[in-house]
Amino acid sequence: MTAITMLSIKSQIPNGEGHGGFAKLEQCDVAYALGGLRAGPAALLRAAIAGDYGESNLRDLYVWAWQEAMDLAISAKWEIPKGREILRKMAKRAAEEIVFKRLTLCPNCGGSKSVQPNQHNPTGDCTPCGNTGTINPTAEQMASIIGVTEQEWRNVWAPRYVRVYGRILEWQGIGMRHVSMRLKDE
Ligand SMILES: [Zn+2]
Repeated sequence: MTAITMLSIKSQIPNGEGHGGFAKLEQCDVAYALGGLRAGPAALLRAAIAGDYGESNLRDLYVWAWQEAMDLAISAKWEIPKGREILRKMAKRAAEEIVFKRLTLCPNCGGSKSVQPNQHNPTGDCTPCGNTGTINPTAEQMASIIGVTEQEWRNVWAPRYVRVYGRILEWQGIGMRHVSMRLKDE
């Protein structure tokens, strides 16, 4: 394995962040594995998989996510109001949701999809999340996060957000494929 600075390894991921599942990398050099990968997917993997929540990595991630949202906006011919930085906020939030799973974890079951069964709830169903373990922020919360009115969110930005989120989520797959190729190639 090439000697490059070790960025961070799976075992250093703090509780509740990231999602591990990258056992192959535990003994490996993260920087090597990410070599040659596009900047956006690399920043996402560093955060989501290797647990690098450092300010400079997150700043990179948000800038590349913004760029991705901008590309999407141009190709989809979205009308974007000037000076409100809606795309930037939307891209940042989408990246944060992917990196920091806790943002959408159900507060009632903590993501475990069920609760301790009791007399009133013998099946242990978690009502707030419908046994999915995650909860979407309300329209009001999302509107406030990206700086639009609730009505603008519902009518215009919610479907756009789904597309931005999807693009950034794709980075994870792109990055994982890249890494497994690199590791196979040794
Ligand atoms: Zn729940």
